[in-house]
Amino acid sequence: MVLIPFLLCWGSFLNVLSHRLIRGVDIVFQRSRCPLCQKNISWFDLIPVFSWLLLQGKCRQCRGAISALYPFIEILTPLIMIPLILWTPLRYIPAYFLFFSALIVTIRSDIEHLLISRFVTLFLIPVGLLLSSVNALPITFLDSLIGALLGYGFLLAIASLFRWITKKDGMGQGDLELLAFIGSFTGIIGCWMSLLIGSILGTLYGLLCTPLSKKTSVKIPFGPFLSFGAISYVLWQQSILNALFGF
Ligand SMILES: [Zn+2]
Repeated sequence: MVLIPFLLCWGSFLNVLSHRLIRGVDIVFQRSRCPLCQKNISWFDLIPVFSWLLLQGKCRQCRGAISALYPFIEILTPLIMIPLILWTPLRYIPAYFLFFSALIVTIRSDIEHLLISRFVTLFLIPVGLLLSSVNALPITFLDSLIGALLGYGFLLAIASLFRWITKKDGMGQGDLELLAFIGSFTGIIGCWMSLLIGSILGTLYGLLCTPLSKKTSVKIPFGPFLSFGAISYVLWQQSILNALFGF
């Protein structure tokens, strides 16, 4: 139970990280400011979820709207980290904790800005390779390496084909790097399953939401769906592998 407050605060930190990585703001030394009026935020207004609810999603000083993504990410963090901690063998938890944290940062920045920071995808691929080679992940180094290359290569092929047919960009560079990062932490099968689950989730979302909005060219970020695909795979990988291969 002591974990929940810690994970809510960790979610709050991931919110800040996502916000600052995209804007190139100092991560460690700058105090939290209101993104609208730039005034410093007091510690008692930084309590995860509760402060946002108490202030009804508005800044105490300028009364400007504070994004609902803040409490969303703060609640999402314990919701996915607690099953991870309960269901995963102890020696894999640190690596997956880092993996999930990077995916949460990606989910936030891609929903908010349609941008994915390389600091939480591309630059962490060597970490995935290293962790797999020291048995901190349940995949081999080779599996991690091929997973990363496959993730990048497959999306590159789809993106090129899409551009050739429609003469439009359907996928961003960030999505390619994200799937490469996912492949480096989950291997070949994980990379495929994340893409498969992510594509199903994305298609369902598109089908449910497109008729509601009049704009047909509205951009839907793919990163959050890939991330949720990877999170689902990691949490349920034993059942998925059982169903696929019977082991
Ligand atoms: Zn403000």
